[in-house]
Amino acid sequence: MSPDPYKTSDGKRDKPGCISPVTMTDQPIHPGEAGLPTLSKLGISSKSLVESVDPLPIAEQWLSSFAASTAKASLNIPSLVSDLLLPSTFESTFLCPDSDLSPNTGLPPVPKTGDREPSVYWRDVLALTWDFRTFEGTKKIQKFLEDRLAGANIRNVKLDQADGPPAIASLFPDILWLQLFFTFDTDVGGCTAIARLVPVVDKEGPGAGNIKWKAHTVFTRLESLHDVPELLGPLRKQEPFHGPWDEARAEEIAFKERDPTVLIIGAGQGGLMTAANLKVLGVDSLIIEKTERVGDNWRKRYEALCLHDPVWYDHFPFIPFPKTWPIYTPARKARFPSMSSFLGNWLESYVDALDLNVWTSSTVTKVERGQGDRWAVTVVSSGPGGDRTRVFNVNHVVFASGWIGMKSYVPDIPGRDKFRGQVLHSFEHNRATDHSGKKVVVVGACTAAFDISVDYVDKGVDVTMYQRKSSYIISGQGLRALLAGLYSENTPFSTEVADRLNLSMPNLFMAGVNHRSRQMLAELDKDIIEGLEKKGFHVNTGYRDTGILFQVWQTGGGYYIDVGGSKYIIDGRLKVKGDCGAIKEYTEKGLRFEDGSELDADVVVFCTGLDKKKHPLSDFLAEDVITQCSPLWGLDDEGELKGVHREVGPRGLWSMMGNLAVCRMNSKHVALQIKAMEKGSFGTRYSKGTGTGGLKRKSMDEDVSEAEKIRQLEERMALFD
Ligand SMILES: Cc1cc2nc3c(=O)[nH]c(=O)nc-3n(C[C@H](O)[C@H](O)[C@H](O)COP(=O)(O)OP(=O)(O)OC[C@H]3O[C@@H](n4cnc5c(N)ncnc54)[C@H](O)[C@@H]3O)c2cc1C
Repeated sequence: MSPDPYKTSDGKRDKPGCISPVTMTDQPIHPGEAGLPTLSKLGISSKSLVESVDPLPIAEQWLSSFAASTAKASLNIPSLVSDLLLPSTFESTFLCPDSDLSPNTGLPPVPKTGDREPSVYWRDVLALTWDFRTFEGTKKIQKFLEDRLAGANIRNVKLDQADGPPAIASLFPDILWLQLFFTFDTDVGGCTAIARLVPVVDKEGPGAGNIKWKAHTVFTRLESLHDVPELLGPLRKQEPFHGPWDEARAEEIAFKERDPTVLIIGAGQGGLMTAANLKVLGVDSLIIEKTERVGDNWRKRYEALCLHDPVWYDHFPFIPFPKTWPIYTPARKARFPSMSSFLGNWLESYVDALDLNVWTSSTVTKVERGQGDRWAVTVVSSGPGGDRTRVFNVNHVVFASGWIGMKSYVPDIPGRDKFRGQVLHSFEHNRATDHSGKKVVVVGACTAAFDISVDYVDKGVDVTMYQRKSSYIISGQGLRALLAGLYSENTPFSTEVADRLNLSMPNLFMAGVNHRSRQMLAELDKDIIEGLEKKGFHVNTGYRDTGILFQVWQTGGGYYIDVGGSKYIIDGRLKVKGDCGAIKEYTEKGLRFEDGSELDADVVVFCTGLDKKKHPLSDFLAEDVITQCSPLWGLDDEGELKGVHREVGPRGLWSMMGNLAVCRMNSKHVALQIKAMEKGSFGTRYSKGTGTGGLKRKSMDEDVSEAEKIRQLEERMALFD
């Protein structure tokens, strides 16, 4: 492997988690990698011995023992834990609080047994816990099973070969597992599961020296509820309907004589996907959207916005994007924003196609405790006859009103009154040509800053990007390689199965995987990273050295998926100002920095993200309710997202949040929970409170072509092929 391409010009980093090659030698194992089930930790000296096994009989045998020890009549948790799961006392430190980071490396301490003990995980999504939980280590798994298994009444355990037959996969040269899909029933519903078995050498007893296959990860997920058919395919409406459909729809959507069961705030992807899933489960919902047209949330964003995630990752539930769709979806087509918008119009057509109930030009002004367990939601609708107010009494309110509150953050910088130019946040920015002939400074160096700056350059506007802190950069190609095993043109998996596989990877485990893949991706993106550094644009290694995934989970920002913008800096078309400290003050003509240097500007565009000071729901809920709500977003110490996709605290209040893929996966989870509550089959949540290293990898051959590098990388990242 070539020297760390993230090395900055002065060899220093501006944030914890960016380790230099020197500290790597001092600390041979990265804390994220410490629990990886490497073959050497498992006592396997010959990989060829284990990779040539026939996976089917091993999977069948493991599953039959699993069925026997989880069945209510023969429940045997000690046997399940000791015979079928990898034994481990390992506890990840990767998500420790910042205060516990090592002052030398800026990283979490390496767990004591990290050099010799692999971790073990059981991740459950609603099937056994009615929550999102990851249990790590034998002790915690055992306790969870003792608390929940008998009550769940697991039965009908079956190998599921339709999603993929049991198969050996080798994620890295030193890691190999046997993956199997299976299904089972509980008293509540039908569940899917994925187990990843690793080979272990028996150390003692009569079988000493033999290889046994034990689970490193078990993932269980609630998929359906008993007696609740999904109103899809064979269960679609069977009878012809001759009456005017639009009249029936108009009546349905008017909610004259009834309240919906669920009121959803916001008709972005989060709201629409939740409504679609609720509809399939037969739950009546109404979406309240404050803009005039569904899709305006994308139409009215800046003209240059286009999705940076590839199309295969972004599909909507029930109606995937057409195959003619570009890989990177434009939010809107330039010039005719009111008429034409890729993503905005897609949202609108989704509402039409699925007959979802939406009130536009309507704003939720408050959500208060209503009668009984219900919530009183005040909606003000504007129309030709003036404003009308309606108070709905509903069992559930889903807040799909935007990412972490969607309030723009503009730093408070002295001297604003002196500055003679215009100041705006990226949310207020429309198009580059609005500023033709002017001098623009874009503050920030991540997604919006790149999109907006590149657009300025293309339209001939004089623009400088100001970077205060380094950013994480991954090329679009790199991201595609990262997702390729699950979401790509040629993936063998349907989106549903890919989502299941994606969910089956506990985040604490993914820290190790991502620490490794981040380095591979840096190799692929070496020219971009070096080119940027040469121009004074600083690049870091992502959250605690693990690239993009944890940046998204922990902050939702701080990165740029490079869909072309970096080249503008490397080619010198986009100027960068950095290494000058923070902005000290506005001057009459622009900005002055801590080092005394200045930039002239007619317009300053802040691409500085969201204001996270207030709770995202504080515009809707009274203080006494907010105090009972969990924080939203960011990971807890199990690696699970805080507060979202479940009740935020008080019963009946839900938060739906995330990019398109996260909303796709979790809108189903929210719908299932709500339906189970309505049906009376929801149990009790098993909640948690409220609320490069030394492992050697074969480096990529530097002589191979770019295309071959991508192919190799895709092959390595194709986790489940
Ligand atoms: C610039 C930018 C680029 C992004 N790029 C990507 C990307 O490439 N890929 C990706 O997956 N994600 C991307 N995202 C992130 C994310 O997918 C979007 O923020 C997405 O819009 C979130 O969907 P949502 O449904 O949660 O919220 P939103 O799309 O923000 O929708 C919320 C809706 O709620 C409405 N609303 C809010 N308050 C009220 C109220 N009181 N009453 C009634 N209605 C209300 C709003 O009008 C809005 O329509 C991007 C976000 C931004 C800002």
